[in-house]
Amino acid sequence: MSFSVSTGRFFLIPLLLLLFSCKSLKKNDKTVLVAEKEKKSVPTFKTSNGPYQPSRTRPVDLLHTKLEVSFDWKNQYLNGVAYLTFKPLFYPQKGLVLDAKGMDIHSVDLVTPNAIPLKYLYNKEKLDITLDKVYQSKDTFLIRIKYTAKPNEIKKGGSEAITDDRGLYFINADGKDPQKPVQIWTQGETEANSCWFPTIDSPNEKTTQEMFITVDSAFTVLSNGELVYQKANKDGTNTFYWKQDLPHAPYLFMMAIGKYSIIEDQMTDTRFDWDDFKINYYVEPQYGKYAKSIFGNTPEMIAFFSSLLKYKFPWDKYSQVVVRDFVSGAMENTSASVFMEALQSDDRELLDESWDPIIAHELFHHWFGDLVTAESWANLPLNESFANYSEYLWLNYKYGKDEADQHAETEEKQYFDEANHKQEPLIRFHYHDREDMFDRHSYNKGGRVLHTLRTVVGDSAFFEALNLYLKRNQFKPAEIHDLRLAFEEVTGIDLNWFFNQWFLAPGHPSLKIESQYSSGMLSLTVEQQQDTLRTPIYRIPFKLDVWVNGMKNTYHLELTKSKQSFSLPCAAQPNLVHFDPENEVLSKKSHEKTDEELIFQFKNSHGYFGRKDALVAYFDLSKAENQEMAQAKFKTKDFESLLKGALNDRFWGIRDYALDQFSRYVIPNIENYIPDLERIASSDSKPAVRAQAIYLLSSYDNKRFVDLYYKGLDEKAYSVVGASLSSLLKAKDANIEKKIPEFESIDNINIIIPLANYFINSKDTTKYIWFKKNMQTSEDRRTYALLSYFSQYLAILPEAEKNEGKQLLKKISETNKHEVIRNAANYYLQMLK
Ligand SMILES: [Zn+2]
Repeated sequence: MSFSVSTGRFFLIPLLLLLFSCKSLKKNDKTVLVAEKEKKSVPTFKTSNGPYQPSRTRPVDLLHTKLEVSFDWKNQYLNGVAYLTFKPLFYPQKGLVLDAKGMDIHSVDLVTPNAIPLKYLYNKEKLDITLDKVYQSKDTFLIRIKYTAKPNEIKKGGSEAITDDRGLYFINADGKDPQKPVQIWTQGETEANSCWFPTIDSPNEKTTQEMFITVDSAFTVLSNGELVYQKANKDGTNTFYWKQDLPHAPYLFMMAIGKYSIIEDQMTDTRFDWDDFKINYYVEPQYGKYAKSIFGNTPEMIAFFSSLLKYKFPWDKYSQVVVRDFVSGAMENTSASVFMEALQSDDRELLDESWDPIIAHELFHHWFGDLVTAESWANLPLNESFANYSEYLWLNYKYGKDEADQHAETEEKQYFDEANHKQEPLIRFHYHDREDMFDRHSYNKGGRVLHTLRTVVGDSAFFEALNLYLKRNQFKPAEIHDLRLAFEEVTGIDLNWFFNQWFLAPGHPSLKIESQYSSGMLSLTVEQQQDTLRTPIYRIPFKLDVWVNGMKNTYHLELTKSKQSFSLPCAAQPNLVHFDPENEVLSKKSHEKTDEELIFQFKNSHGYFGRKDALVAYFDLSKAENQEMAQAKFKTKDFESLLKGALNDRFWGIRDYALDQFSRYVIPNIENYIPDLERIASSDSKPAVRAQAIYLLSSYDNKRFVDLYYKGLDEKAYSVVGASLSSLLKAKDANIEKKIPEFESIDNINIIIPLANYFINSKDTTKYIWFKKNMQTSEDRRTYALLSYFSQYLAILPEAEKNEGKQLLKKISETNKHEVIRNAANYYLQMLK
């Protein structure tokens, strides 16, 4: 499963923090002082003390599930017959309890040659069935349940990653919304599939599956496994028969029903046998021609992960389907992953946004999650940490280590942000709500901890151990110790220390690093400054690069104490002492360096983190008491050479960060940089970087670059077109104002925002319909990005339209599925009062 709000370029959460940052200024100085004093004894973060959450007890084993389902669109019900085959797991049983939420149960029978009605109790959550006799573990029995599922009558729940838990969703069921296709889809994780079929809804259960799904002949149906047949019925309906012979957990069952284009793709890999293996993409018909641009790296990903794990993709086929109004970013249902509608984009939009990370994430779950499944939600990182780490693995393989490291930097930051108010063990046996497990710990921290583990044991041991873990636990549930045991068996090293501190305890190291050189010796002191009452003192193997006379020596050392010093022979005063140069140890680090050392680090580091961290530290003047004096260094030759180096870096993320500094500070001698900015604006390989350079140029001597902007207008990437349009509008270029109507019809946020800005600034009150149209989108990220513009625009409108607009804001504040968006809409509504 993936988060929906943090993928892509418009990050909702950071934006919202900006929005509400004014709140923290209201604190008076006294509270700040008290808070500072209390810091020593009371941590800013909380660790949950919820009840112990064990794995589900398994009196019986569900061996096979056969479902026959059809739909009552008017009432949004599912009519079903479930045939469930069980055996007692070990102890004799005379009854069993199933999960079945919010249903009407019509009958429960034991299927023998004759159906025997069974006694049952049902309380709208659990179906408690009494068997006709006691069964032994060698016996199997088949139960038939006739039922009606009523998902909309179930009480709502959900989490940050999953915003709802009704299991079964009817989209535009009455067909009255012309903007939306008619669809049905399901979302099982965590325990919501038992809203549409009776089962043992627990991740430590695994069952094979058959589904007979009957729908109107206008629709296509996707489910798990292989499509055995699709047949027409006399009443104008079609029945789709999907079958999966390999067992998986009930939360991975799925259906997606709608009018789709199905785009077939091919495996080109020759390392494994892919005969009869199907890959396809289900998208709305108008996106059929873009499906391969969106999902087209899938075959290469399947081959890459299969080869890396030395374990071929385990399932019959791989389908990916896009649905409307999804409750999450995406979900890894076995062999049929579901994605949110944001993925449906055209070739021009895809120049600004790649969906590879989320595609890799759901795919990798097919080994970690679907093949080997966390036995309980407490063990969720066995699914999500791996899926998260696969994003890094794919980016590194396909786009290089800089790209992967930059992604890791973002992931790490999101975890650290969460850790300010919450620190939990990754494997969390105490929690209040299982949905709380879907957080930046299970995903982001887990992914980084796996990377740390990989650097501790080495690449080949890491992937060998994963292979052993997969083989040993395939088609079974696993817990964290299964992972440790696989690593110990492969490496021959006891790893309790690693798993205890990283997986079973909360927190992360906070390291203060100091180094001193004196007469042939380098002394390095590392102090662990984290809250060691509540979080561990870590054992940390680390690398140290010591640069002397421009030559690098790498030391492999190990920190085992809360404060520890290391003495190393050193021929001369080092140019640089670089602790953990590749950022392999998940930790907060503070290591004071001189500007000379930082410049040296930037110029000599091969890795992304070495270069980026040097720039971040060099440009951080926040500790300086006198900003003017601190900025004096910006006038030096060294500074100019550093900044130009960054503007010419091989990696776009570094160039982008260099550009950020121009909007952050007044950079002296700006003319010296203009040639670099012009070059980036007109020819950088990354559209977003070009766009930023165009915006920057327009803030200097705008009219001078009008020709460059006009070239930008002809570009394909909307980010570049939008930046050029914005710059021309700002320059009040006469020709561009005539062209505005052409741009008004473009349905892309990069174009919409400059236009919105222009209409607000020019007090053009004739554009309400245009604003309204763009606000009434099902793309939540766009709604969010436009909220402030829309409310600014409403402020200049006459009463009648202003009131209508306020009603629209009110509706968003009440009905949007994301809390951040509801809050933001409400905030702007209050501002308008
Ligand atoms: Zn996931």
